[in-house]
Amino acid sequence: MKIVYSRFLFTLILFIIFLNCSKEDNSNTEISPSAVSSESDQNTSSSTSTNSSESNQDNSSTTQDYTGFECDNWFYNLLRPEPVSVDNTHRYYKYSWQSDPMLCLNAYEPSILGERVEKVKDFLSWAKKNMPNILPVNVFYIDQVNASAESKLQHTTDFCNLVRGSDEVNSCIIESNDSWGERSHGAGVYGSYLHKGADLMIYDDAFKHSGGVDEGMYYLNHEYFHTFQTGHMFYFEENKQFGISIDLEKKSPPLPFLPIWIGEGGADFASIAMMAKQNLNIDPFEEALTKLDQARRAMEGSNSSFSLKDFESENNRINDEYFAYGGGAMAHIYLWHLNEDNFKKLIVEYYTIFAEKYRLNPQSGWKDAFEETFGITLESFYSDFDAFMRQDRDSQIAIIKSSEEWENASWK
Ligand SMILES: [Zn+2]
Repeated sequence: MKIVYSRFLFTLILFIIFLNCSKEDNSNTEISPSAVSSESDQNTSSSTSTNSSESNQDNSSTTQDYTGFECDNWFYNLLRPEPVSVDNTHRYYKYSWQSDPMLCLNAYEPSILGERVEKVKDFLSWAKKNMPNILPVNVFYIDQVNASAESKLQHTTDFCNLVRGSDEVNSCIIESNDSWGERSHGAGVYGSYLHKGADLMIYDDAFKHSGGVDEGMYYLNHEYFHTFQTGHMFYFEENKQFGISIDLEKKSPPLPFLPIWIGEGGADFASIAMMAKQNLNIDPFEEALTKLDQARRAMEGSNSSFSLKDFESENNRINDEYFAYGGGAMAHIYLWHLNEDNFKKLIVEYYTIFAEKYRLNPQSGWKDAFEETFGITLESFYSDFDAFMRQDRDSQIAIIKSSEEWENASWK
């Protein structure tokens, strides 16, 4: 099977890689195994142009009605509000949308997207109820092959208005309005546009398939989880405030470090868990098995030094597979097998304490959050999991939860 990559914009790869997800051609009727795009023009805002001197946003706007997930982009021009407080490391914000973060769907040329628009809306309805997010999610949905030039330009313009400050929108449009046909799905949020919510880019290619598992739904679930992950990386539950590290704002892009195997493996794990609860005609056990086999293929021919540890900031493709995805998902499945409570920890609790740990120690906040959440050192986890991945396939299958266990497990 052939994997199509986007190959534009080469900067910031290590930072953005987990936000961008693969796109496979439609000949593959299975859930996409692997893959990350090497990069994409999405989320590559090189700007942290918004700053604390900008004016407050209009709190009255939250009273708008979002029936049908149509938000009309009314808030894309909002400036970042003044911080409500500042300390040595962070500026803290309260946003007008916090009481009810909206899910917005920008569907371009719905006439060619057909009934699939309703499918995406059904997912958003499900997500709003079952995996409510702490920030708005702006879904951009387009047929990147068949959409008109006008629709593509509108898509680019809307996206640039969301992720860039007003002085950079034009340059963003110029640099972003190409590569159509080879774009990858992607999602997340950076500190620079946190006040407008996350973006989630999906392309109709994945939704057009015949038979087999619905690849489009896999991507939609996977990408939605990226918005959940990245939003929480800025959120301080105690005061219900978002905080952006002052140091981080100088970096590009402004997003705390999260290992790729947690970012992508976590999104793959969560996508199975989420899909298990929707009426999607998938078998979660079989999906997990697919992850195992992807991980095993990536390890074929490797020597005993092969380790999950090597996939914190690398996402090499090995034997046609990206271990950060399959191996990362298996790392989550392995943690769940160690302790029933780890299911909820993997999906919610790790991210709940992330911002607090990052504030204490930006270099290793992700690691501190891991060790506190799961009660084991990262080094011993790597060592145990690496040994597990060298066991025979039957022993590995034995730790995968049954479909019924996937369906009944709860992150609430
Ligand atoms: Zn991803």
